[in-house]
Amino acid sequence: MNQSTIGQIALPMGGSVQLQQLEFGRGSQILSVVSGLHGDEYNGLGACARLARFLRQVETQQTPYRLVGRVRLFSASNALALVTGERNWPVDQTDLNRLFPGYVAGEATQRLAHFIYEAVRSSRLCVAVHSGHELVEWPQARSFQDYPTGNQALATGLPLSWVQPREDLRQGSLEKTLQQQGVDCLLLTGGQAQQLDPGMAEQLQAGMVRLALHLGILHGPLLPPVHPPRQVRQVQVCLAERAGLWLPSVRPGDLLLVQQSLGEVVDPLTGELLQLVSTKTSGYVMSLHIRPLVTQGSLLVRVAVV
Ligand SMILES: [Zn+2]
Repeated sequence: MNQSTIGQIALPMGGSVQLQQLEFGRGSQILSVVSGLHGDEYNGLGACARLARFLRQVETQQTPYRLVGRVRLFSASNALALVTGERNWPVDQTDLNRLFPGYVAGEATQRLAHFIYEAVRSSRLCVAVHSGHELVEWPQARSFQDYPTGNQALATGLPLSWVQPREDLRQGSLEKTLQQQGVDCLLLTGGQAQQLDPGMAEQLQAGMVRLALHLGILHGPLLPPVHPPRQVRQVQVCLAERAGLWLPSVRPGDLLLVQQSLGEVVDPLTGELLQLVSTKTSGYVMSLHIRPLVTQGSLLVRVAVV
């Protein structure tokens, strides 16, 4: 394992925020993993800590696996926000994942984006790990329409691999910027913000190990998936029609029948029923709104149509 600081942001009273890179193995093929772009998402950090421990064991020949390429981890890419538990850079609330490819002569977050982008742009594949923000996500890999990463998403062995519409790629995100430059990028997501779910971190880590095996960067025994992986091309979105208190009756990963109830929106003061929410199609609950209060238009449930 080679640990290095690849970028620093000096703080006004001394000290600095550092961008750390852990590198394992050698060779020209590189799998990069970026987590913690949003500082309130800890499942990626947990998954990367597990992956780093596993790769150290691989390097010291304590496992039947062998590295034949390189894995680079940028686990705490927005370190200051991870410490304070905020989604965005704490000083000016900038979303780091809207600033790629960054700017070396710019402000703190523009420079941070630049350091990350320069470090991952030579990768064969870059994986960005996230969690839900207002949603809790069933573990899933996301590729994008018109980009050739659908098979890599399936190779993670996570329960769902969603081919997202091209319009979902946000300007300035790491995934859009890399793919526009011809570098393959996948998103992995699972769980929710402000929580580290050990089981979720384990599933995401196993997904990255399967990906490294699929890419030929790691050699060794296959890891069978826990759930049969399914490619999702169609997603049904259920929105709140009224502001109110959201009382869901399903959980992520539930298999739904047509017209099945998903929950209700009620008046938080009187309890009056405002909206019965049900699904139009059968499928799996892939994302579920977790905050109790919703406003008109809030995304309540995403159903992966199967
Ligand atoms: Zn995120």
